[in-house]
Amino acid sequence: MNPEVTAWIEKADRKLIPAYGRTPVVFTRGQGVWLFDREGRSYLDCLTGLAVVAVGHANPRVAEAARAQMSELVHVSNIFYTEPMVSLAGRLSALSGLDRVFFANCGATVNETAIKLARRYAQKKHGAHRYEVISLLDSFHGRTLATLAATGQPSKQETFEPLPPGFFQVPPADIAALDRALSDRTAAVMIETTQGEGGVIPLPADFLQEVREMCDRRGVLLIIDDVQAGMGRTGHMFSWQGLGFEPDIATVAKALANGLAIGACMAREEVATAFGPGDHGTTFGGGPVPCAAALAVLDEIAERDLLANCRARSRQFAEGLGALDGVMEVRGRGLLLAAVLEGEWAAETTQRALELGLVVNNVRPDAVRFAPPLTITPEETAEAISRFGEALSASIAAES
Ligand SMILES: *Cc1c(COP(=O)(O)O)cnc(C)c1O
Repeated sequence: MNPEVTAWIEKADRKLIPAYGRTPVVFTRGQGVWLFDREGRSYLDCLTGLAVVAVGHANPRVAEAARAQMSELVHVSNIFYTEPMVSLAGRLSALSGLDRVFFANCGATVNETAIKLARRYAQKKHGAHRYEVISLLDSFHGRTLATLAATGQPSKQETFEPLPPGFFQVPPADIAALDRALSDRTAAVMIETTQGEGGVIPLPADFLQEVREMCDRRGVLLIIDDVQAGMGRTGHMFSWQGLGFEPDIATVAKALANGLAIGACMAREEVATAFGPGDHGTTFGGGPVPCAAALAVLDEIAERDLLANCRARSRQFAEGLGALDGVMEVRGRGLLLAAVLEGEWAAETTQRALELGLVVNNVRPDAVRFAPPLTITPEETAEAISRFGEALSASIAAES
């Protein structure tokens, strides 16, 4: 690496709290599917943050919507109304079939909202004993204490004990285990339809439908964490659409405003109205600028038919990656995919891909995650597959 960049990074690392293991690249600019670093090198971005920049870097429509709103009105307290927030709530409600929306600032804060709303509803309806939330092992729901308590990854949880009580995890896709875990203390079951951070594991539709039926029988709410898989990522606007069930509460965040900080917790009428004035709040939630950007994202998805492109490019990735030597299978839904390798080469392959100008992520020792923009073209997709193939064969050659 260029010694000037190395020195810059060493200095940065003395100033930042070292909570991340960062890759030593300094990005300065993005355009569509492309990222550019300080030294002017270009990269095909097949990660987009982590499934955030869904309509492409520096998207003109989103940039213009945010810029225009920025000069009009940036903030007032949530004790008043603003137009972009109410328009966005209406659009999300129409698209999701869920009646009402609460805006917060990211995935963790909307999941925190969902948990509090589920508890409020269950305790009002059934009594104070009804507060537990059951989630799945290998799930990821966020880093605040309650969402961490719901995150089924003991290694992330153990270092921050004691966590808030009332959270339990069961193995994914095991309906009998879930049945045993549910009790008259259960307020909600919280699930990702495709476990993103857990390794891009798509949960079977029949399992999810059985969870829905079980929740209905036992008077338990079903929360879908669509923070990563929502907003068109799976080829449906929301990931449960096309899987044959409906949640009571659902959350989205990552791609909602294409990179501006926002999250939405959506719920059906009876559940949503368990909150009354003063029950929950957040200063920045539903600010006019991220809401204006999110409205532009929804326009982009609709007018450019990005759900159809997502499905077509998904097939292209699945076929292309699946045909590479060293790839055992391609799993996931839409453009949330993982190439599962025949060996534990994901870290090395990701590093080599970066050097070849392709950004992906080693989500597991043997799996590389792809979450490109929904706008990616057939040519860019072919280029990404080719760069990945080159990185993978170099990794395999170095191994043997
Ligand atoms: C990223 C993610 C979160 C947390 O979102 P933040 O914006 O980082 O707080 C929660 N749930 C899922 C499924 C995620 O992928």
